[in-house]
Amino acid sequence: MNTVNKKKVITRFPPSPTGGFHVGSARTALFNYLFTKQNNGIMYLRFEDTDKERSKKEYETDITNALSWLDIDYHGPFRQSERGQIYAQYINKLIEDGLAYVSDERGEGGKEIGENVRDSVIRFKNPNKKVTFDDLIRGEISSDTTDLGDFVIAKSIDEPLYHLAVVIDDHEMEVTHIIRGDDHISNTARQILIQEAIGASRPIYAHIPMILGPDKSKLSKRHGAKGVMEYKEEGILPVAMINYLAMLGWNPGTEQEFFTVEELISAFDISVVQKAGAIFSNEKLLWVNKHHISKMEREDFIENVEKYIQTEIKNLPQYSKDRLLKMADTLKERISSFGEITIMSKEGDLEFYFEAPEYFVQSLIWHSKKLDENHKHTETEAIKNLEEHIKFAIENLEKIDEKNFNSNDVKNTLWDYAEKEGRGEVLWPIRFALSGRDKSPDPFTLAEILGKEETLSRLNKALDKILKT
Ligand code: GLU
Repeated sequence: MNTVNKKKVITRFPPSPTGGFHVGSARTALFNYLFTKQNNGIMYLRFEDTDKERSKKEYETDITNALSWLDIDYHGPFRQSERGQIYAQYINKLIEDGLAYVSDERGEGGKEIGENVRDSVIRFKNPNKKVTFDDLIRGEISSDTTDLGDFVIAKSIDEPLYHLAVVIDDHEMEVTHIIRGDDHISNTARQILIQEAIGASRPIYAHIPMILGPDKSKLSKRHGAKGVMEYKEEGILPVAMINYLAMLGWNPGTEQEFFTVEELISAFDISVVQKAGAIFSNEKLLWVNKHHISKMEREDFIENVEKYIQTEIKNLPQYSKDRLLKMADTLKERISSFGEITIMSKEGDLEFYFEAPEYFVQSLIWHSKKLDENHKHTETEAIKNLEEHIKFAIENLEKIDEKNFNSNDVKNTLWDYAEKEGRGEVLWPIRFALSGRDKSPDPFTLAEILGKEETLSRLNKALDKILKT
């Protein structure tokens, strides 16, 4: 663990609210958060909204919603757009000290900045030197700043550009550690020059690797990457999202793959974050999510399930919290995200839990009987056998005490008979009578979920159909 004792750790997460909040930014926020927490520090949220045209309040809201969903806390938010006076003071001082100057650009036909052309801008007087800094992840990085020339730091006294504003903010907020994407490595040298000019001390840098798609190019929508809040809607648990994001570029050096947030706070080590890009995999995210789902308390799990069940299902006659609680283990086995509950309810995989199914009697016949032409059984014979099997089930399940009506006892009651008569022959019709579906959990599990009364009622309904054939 990387503990810094001397000075209070202060970090910052400074997104530009110019687009949706994606996994890359969320991972940067998370690494800052974990590092801050393990050092009992504080993290600022700062919106870098100096680009007035592209910065939008809705993007800010998307970011704060996602951070609160992930339970990543912060001080702020602060906005660069509200700190104009502070920047102006620094710009004036830099000009006074001869470290920056107002540059007349008319000779060159004006300076193009974004979509605008300026007659004058404020340029930094580049000392043209080699800058070397130590990166916690990358080690020593050097670059010669001569090529940058006297770069522009502000459009005017009131309009600082990113490099200047970021340095002033980090200085004013006494930021000790800058953890950000490695696409900012090339910005660091010029930011250090500005730091030195304003008399700021140098923070410790850690440039974390990019997140890549499976084809190793920068992760984008093209790879199916979504906004963080879309993962929430799809029923990814925040702890799973955090667990998975933490593993994008970091691993504990052990076999452990599943972490709670507390465990991550103590295990995370910024200095062992890898240099190479980290590949994002939706399957892996779902796999991590499935694990965290499996660890949920039943009540908590069912509360989440209920948010994803369609109203049509909720309106079914036997829908109840009690029934849902009994379904919890089975559902946990079946889903990797809660969004799959909506799919299940749309596809008819949930209805039978809450109302007796409708079906034709022929569906109760075990497949191999229907398909195997050489088989001597006629349909009438098959139906006759069904009658025996269902009767056996009814008579024997009746004997189980209502309180012990669990999948084990149901299985023990039916198993020897099923072995003798053919498992498919006996268990298929029972399962089908309970679910009315080709695919559903095994009949023992279903019986336990439905309870004794409903199980027997559905079996009796099947028997009625058989007898009427
Ligand atoms: N606003 C920058 C970004 O969103 C962050 C700059 C920084 O971390 O220094 O990439």
